Amino acid sequence: MAGRPYILSETNWKTVRKTEFEVAILPWGATEAHNFHLPFGTDTIQVEAVAAESARQAWEQGSRCLVLPPVPFGSNAQQVDIPHTINLNPTTQAFLLSDLVESLEAQGLSKLLILNGHGGNDFRPMIRELQPQVTIFLCMASWYQVGDWADYFEDVGDHAGEMETSIMLQIAPDLVLPLSEAGDGAERRYRIEAFREKWAWAPRRWTQVSKDTGVGNPALATREKGERYTAAVVEQLGRFLVDLAAADPDDLYE
Ligand SMILES: [Zn+2]
Repeated sequence: MAGRPYILSETNWKTVRKTEFEVAILPWGATEAHNFHLPFGTDTIQVEAVAAESARQAWEQGSRCLVLPPVPFGSNAQQVDIPHTINLNPTTQAFLLSDLVESLEAQGLSKLLILNGHGGNDFRPMIRELQPQVTIFLCMASWYQVGDWADYFEDVGDHAGEMETSIMLQIAPDLVLPLSEAGDGAERRYRIEAFREKWAWAPRRWTQVSKDTGVGNPALATREKGERYTAAVVEQLGRFLVDLAAADPDDLYE
């Protein structure tokens, strides 16, 4: 049986050779602790699932988008004191991105979307630096920034809370421990007002912020909430992929 034609790791040379792909999608996750109850691969599992479903929707509308194998390591320098969270420094990520782009560009691909699944990853400065050196059009989106979480979830934390737990209950329920095993994701707030108000920023020292590595209480997570949110996300991302596939990168402005 053949795999999905828009997932590179499942498809084959026979299919790929006769398909003119318009956009490559690079899902980029992380390997990090997610409270007690979610797997270390949560960010990677989520971003890969969202990429695949968005690409499927675009494919069915005639757009040819190809999902590359996800990068499973993110920028996690502030969490490496939590075993076995793995860090790729931003400069290493930039080298990796540059090598991947070099392959795709040599093969004639014209557009790449980096689909980000981890809050610590920041691809914008990398794209700013790399874009003038290559002809392939580079862009990025963080899937979890689609829509307003408050429309879907009651406790809007930002790591391994109600949102991520709901999504995982939908896409990988076998990898989620019973919620009775989860910590409450309580966050210790900054003493400095400017950091609390978030207009000043420093990377968070994760072991000092949270007892269970989570920020946000997963107690109210349900599969149904996950389904509602991901349906909205992939619908919007699918539409973006269709637009991106059809677009001429040299003619993006009205
Ligand atoms: Zn996460």
